[in-house]
Amino acid sequence: MNFEKLEQLYEGKAKRVYATQDPEVVIVSYKDDATAFNGLKKGTITGKGAINNRMTNNLMRRLEEKGVPTHYIQELSDRETAVKKVAIVPLEVIIRNISAGSFSKRYGVEEGIVFEAPTIEFSYKNDDLGDPLLNDYHALALKLATAGEIELIKKYAFAVNELLKVFMKEIGIDLVDFKLEFGKTADGTIVLADEISPDTCRLWDETTHEKLDKDRFRRDLGGAEEAYEEVMRRLMGEQ
Ligand code: UDP
Repeated sequence: MNFEKLEQLYEGKAKRVYATQDPEVVIVSYKDDATAFNGLKKGTITGKGAINNRMTNNLMRRLEEKGVPTHYIQELSDRETAVKKVAIVPLEVIIRNISAGSFSKRYGVEEGIVFEAPTIEFSYKNDDLGDPLLNDYHALALKLATAGEIELIKKYAFAVNELLKVFMKEIGIDLVDFKLEFGKTADGTIVLADEISPDTCRLWDETTHEKLDKDRFRRDLGGAEEAYEEVMRRLMGEQ
């Protein structure tokens, strides 16, 4: 299909969104800009936009094949993809398999504890409030989603975890944790949206435990570009 890129609808921290001639389709364009700590830290990871675009599309296509509905329609170029236009449910859905990041900080535990079962948490997607943590009852009270939608989102998030763990293990990576966002299409269907990339997942090499994700940028470890390229190379079998 031929999607025409029309006016810009939105610019976020890592992506721009454009209208197309089809009111139910938008084009997402990935940037190399990197931010952390709610936008306080800013920088660039050269090549990140293309990697995150292609990696997200690869994973979304495979998730869709396994029965998880997604917003993915068609990759248009290295950085651009046509996706279904959705209203984003203002919840960040975080699944964890291994302790790290804010979990370790909040509960005062070391990073690297392998959980017996994955955990799920929600935060309210609101930059002004710093994305505060909330539970299902809070989400319902704030009318961020219906009870049925929250149940469906949890079911899809755990299903994505099981599949992503396998996809990552195949390329020698432990899936530590990740963030998902869901959207609602014009007809009210809940689909997986946003991205799945080293920006939104913690990915550790299964043998060396080297961090192959945005923590290299967040924590000034160096080698962020190389880490993103390494994940891409393993996933797609190319540079
Ligand atoms: N995450 C994200 N966007 C956010 C917050 C978290 O993509 O706004 C991802 C993050 O990359 C990690 C997971 O969600 O893979 C869990 O993040 P955590 O809550 O530990 O927060 P952080 O330590 O990154 O602030």
